[in-house]
Amino acid sequence: MSAGDDNHHNDDHDHDHQHANSRPLSDPELRVKALESVLVDKGLIDPAAMDALIENYETRVGPHNGAQVVAHAWSDQQYRQRLLEDGTKAIAELGFSGMEGEDMVVVENSATVHNVLVCTLCSCYPWPTLGLPPVWYKSAPYRSRVISEPRKVLKEFGLKIGDDVEVRVWDSTAELRYMVLPERPPGTDGMSEEQLAALVTRDAMIGVSLIPAPKI
Ligand code: FE
Repeated sequence: MSAGDDNHHNDDHDHDHQHANSRPLSDPELRVKALESVLVDKGLIDPAAMDALIENYETRVGPHNGAQVVAHAWSDQQYRQRLLEDGTKAIAELGFSGMEGEDMVVVENSATVHNVLVCTLCSCYPWPTLGLPPVWYKSAPYRSRVISEPRKVLKEFGLKIGDDVEVRVWDSTAELRYMVLPERPPGTDGMSEEQLAALVTRDAMIGVSLIPAPKI
């Protein structure tokens, strides 16, 4: 083997990746996988349809709940206050609670602070408000790099954070789940909560994007 090959190999080495793959599947995960493979084998479900269903939960159904929370907080200062003081309770007011959302902390973006979420250990995520985590959220590079170089990672998402803005990274755990309250974009005065909710994206509630002003 040439010296060049050795170098290449060293560059590719990634401890975190190894660590991520070593996590054993939980009992429910094993059961789901077993069930899925039986259903696919018997021709009862189409893997593509399964993927579409999951995609739906990842990008629409779940985040739609979080978007309602955000829109309500933008519209009602007292609710916003309650949300920041006790996320779990305030989110439950709108009917969203349950598994993986028992202890919710909402962190607010402002002109001086930008918040971004991660779970460095695995993939903890606020299911009741955001649904299922996107694939990149669970990936080893995101999990390790957003802690060590958040500005660089955000830039890769197309989000440039000014030097005058503090970036705070929140590491979710089995006990605590975070959600970002994004900044209300300009040009949205007089919008209904429903219209506001339609502007709120999953990525903005994770903190890897902002909510742009609506096109007029
Ligand atoms: Fe986790």
